[in-house]
Amino acid sequence: MSQRARIIHGTAVSPGLAVGPVHVARTQAQRVTTWSVREEDVAREVERLGQAIQTAIDEMVRRQRLVAAQASEKDAEIFAVHRMVLQDPGALKQVESVIRDQRVNAEAGVQALIQRLQASLGKLEGDSVRAYAADIADPWRVVLDTLLAVERAEFLSSESRIVLAASELTPEAVTYLERGRLLAVIAETGGRFSHAAVLARAFGIPCVVGLPGLIGRLERGMPIAVDGDHGTVQLAPSPADVRAFELRAESRAARQESLRVQANLPAESTDGRRLGVLVNLESLRDLDMFRADHTDGLGLVRTEFLYMERPQFPSEDEQFRLYRRVVERMTGLPVTLRTLDIGGDKQLSYFKTPRETNPALGWRGIRISLEWQDLLRVQLRAALRAGTGHDLRLLLPMVASVEDVTLAKSILEGVRQALAEQGYDQVSEVPLGMMIEVPSVLFTLPEMLKHVDFVSVGTNDLVQYLLAVDRDNPWVAKLYEPQHPAVMTALELVARTCRQAGKPSSVCGDLASDPALAVLLFGMGFDSVSVAPNFVPGIKYAVRKIAHAEAREMALEAVAAQDCAGVKRVVARCRERIA
Ligand code: PEP
Ligand code: MG
Repeated sequence: MSQRARIIHGTAVSPGLAVGPVHVARTQAQRVTTWSVREEDVAREVERLGQAIQTAIDEMVRRQRLVAAQASEKDAEIFAVHRMVLQDPGALKQVESVIRDQRVNAEAGVQALIQRLQASLGKLEGDSVRAYAADIADPWRVVLDTLLAVERAEFLSSESRIVLAASELTPEAVTYLERGRLLAVIAETGGRFSHAAVLARAFGIPCVVGLPGLIGRLERGMPIAVDGDHGTVQLAPSPADVRAFELRAESRAARQESLRVQANLPAESTDGRRLGVLVNLESLRDLDMFRADHTDGLGLVRTEFLYMERPQFPSEDEQFRLYRRVVERMTGLPVTLRTLDIGGDKQLSYFKTPRETNPALGWRGIRISLEWQDLLRVQLRAALRAGTGHDLRLLLPMVASVEDVTLAKSILEGVRQALAEQGYDQVSEVPLGMMIEVPSVLFTLPEMLKHVDFVSVGTNDLVQYLLAVDRDNPWVAKLYEPQHPAVMTALELVARTCRQAGKPSSVCGDLASDPALAVLLFGMGFDSVSVAPNFVPGIKYAVRKIAHAEAREMALEAVAAQDCAGVKRVVARCRERIA
């Protein structure tokens, strides 16, 4: 393969450069990942297969004894049959030849056998014959489970740092390993604004997607150079390539560092106007990733991610402690807690929302909170208690109508009263804001602003609803275009309407994390942006380089653009201006 062919171009999802050995992950339970193995590693795969078969046989013996003791010898006989299935030399030969001939992992070999058994099962006639054939595949499933479990356990207990390759960018892929071990994530498919992408950026993990056929070209352990700035992936770079890549990474890190040392300065334009730069928080661990006094506070605490880090709903007291840690860490700066925003692809393992044909248009965000009001009440109680003596603000996700806000407000009022009657300390004032994510809000904004104290635009969702493009659907990922004239028009409308009403406006969607776009938002009249911690220094630097009047001129040009290309030209100019 030529050197050129080994550089694949995809879509940049999360910036940064990383080089390291690749590990192909199985991040979807229903899929068995296939990866190529080097000639010299084939024997190791055959050995893994043999060990897994032996473990499965031992498991059959254990099950046979158990059933014989608890039921009867006759009932337990099936496991003796299963053992014989696994000892059939013909089946073993078939799996081994897949491993050797195709040079693939043991899991893929076993999966091929299971598929063959299932296919032959379809051709059989009669229920009892079919049931027998199904039994033949079953013991091999135990072998497959064993291989997968052993491989994952071994991998988790090692300390290797890897580039993770997955067929799809999912939240599981981004959280597959602790962050220090995950050098980068690359995936065949995935959306740039999916929740998984948001997580990758928040965690500072370089990420590239849109790489069809990637997995088939990887050999386990092969070095990979990932350029999350430009969206390229280099397979098996030469030592000279690796060195050149490392040099680029070092100079990039030096640039980042020079921005970081100026991060204490405010984002004040050359003509003296300020943009608030706040932080989006996904996890308590992120509290240690930035200096609170280099920011203007937390503009978005995605509380659902705090809920995801535990095995069941946190109690009121547990939530109180979580939120208290957050407000205390921010020492008097604003902390904007968003009420639980689950549903769609943000699922809690212990609270399954129903399967929906259209989850993005379904039961999610405030819709769940207003129906399961006790969940909301517990969260509000904990938040109000934790906010005592601090600048706590509450933010409602996925608001679509005035009624959503008025109902939430009446619940909040009830909770405040109950806390007071029960003698709890609580925050003295709590501004209530709403997210602008649903387009209906754009057309009713002056009325809605009478009911809230501030707004924050969630562009990740607003773009998906404005353009009718599912942010999590890889098939339409190319159509998800934040730099669209309709998006610019909507944003400017929000900023202008809020100014007229005297209500602060912010953008907390990922669009704001691009310094050039943050400058345009500043020009439109937004008071603040809220972004993952690692984007704060770059945005502050960009705002300090420009006059508000110039930012405004460019913003209005972006709004007046005829098409996406027109918006992109303005953004490119802005990028050059702040470079
Ligand atoms: C958004 O939609 O832009 C947003 C900030 O919320 P989330 O990404 O958590 O849906
Ligand atoms: Mg959202």
